Amino acid sequence: MCCSHDDFDKRSLTEKDLHPPSGKPFSLDSVKGMQFFDPHVHMTSRTTDDYQAMADAGVVAIIEPAFWVGQPRTGVASFQDYYSSLIGWERFRASQFGIKHYCTIGLNSREANNEALAEQVMEILPHFIYKEGVVGIGEIGFDDQTAAEEKYYRLQLELAKEAGLPVQIHTPHRDKKHGTTRSMDIALEHGLDPATVIVDHNNEETVKEVLDRGFWVAFTIYPFTKMGNERMVEIVKQYGPERIMVNSAADWGISDPLAVPKTAALMKEQGISEEAIRLVTYQNAITAFSHSGQIYEADFSAIKDIDQSRKFEGNSILRGGQQPRIDKNSLIIR
Ligand SMILES: [Zn+2]
Repeated sequence: MCCSHDDFDKRSLTEKDLHPPSGKPFSLDSVKGMQFFDPHVHMTSRTTDDYQAMADAGVVAIIEPAFWVGQPRTGVASFQDYYSSLIGWERFRASQFGIKHYCTIGLNSREANNEALAEQVMEILPHFIYKEGVVGIGEIGFDDQTAAEEKYYRLQLELAKEAGLPVQIHTPHRDKKHGTTRSMDIALEHGLDPATVIVDHNNEETVKEVLDRGFWVAFTIYPFTKMGNERMVEIVKQYGPERIMVNSAADWGISDPLAVPKTAALMKEQGISEEAIRLVTYQNAITAFSHSGQIYEADFSAIKDIDQSRKFEGNSILRGGQQPRIDKNSLIIR
């Protein structure tokens, strides 16, 4: 699960959240031609409009971590179908917009608390983690920091080690600092190399320790509840671009699938060098997840050859006689 789903149901949105004062209108002109890699975005809960907007903004590749779907799953078959869709239908859907789709597979921390189900999920994970395009075990870690969460986090770290896959860690929203430290302690205890571990959902309070200990430091730009991109710019100014990466974690909550290109544009405006922007919005994520042996930049351009009438197991993204590639700038919808 990502940055804020689990906070969302516990907090009530204020009038200001629902109708925030409008910020400056965004333009991505300054980053036109740049390529972006969003290493954390839940496209299963997004629309084709989002895919189109991301492609238009320069997002060439993404990673979709397996997560909580907003309500608890009641049987292992739901996990099975979900994992299958991440390596099947969703990857196909992304390809129809010229976006290379990867995923990480894992049992999320929240559902690790249903131990009877968690046991069954652990049994099916090995069937999925070795599939093509699976670039890590994720997102795993702590939510409420319970004993069950720790148990399945540890088991999945062992699985990652065995499979030689990177780990994508979801750090908890409550008691974040302690939970982040503990997540890293345990990863080291299991003998994982910090160079293959991506610690996600960081903030000003955690960044220094995660950097100092040699892990990858991911930041989720998620409206209202987590990091805003103005704060993100300050972090890059202070710490530089090394081992830092930015993601949107866009999902079924109020979130923004353009968070990565928008942050790049803001960085550009604030005088951060193009090379630093390239590192935090593209290259660092590729380097980190390349330890899976699954990411090749040449594939990003190969997938640009789009034919929206292509089919995946008999289904295309075109419904009932639609023509490929609708013109979003046209008022007329045919
Ligand atoms: Zn997430």
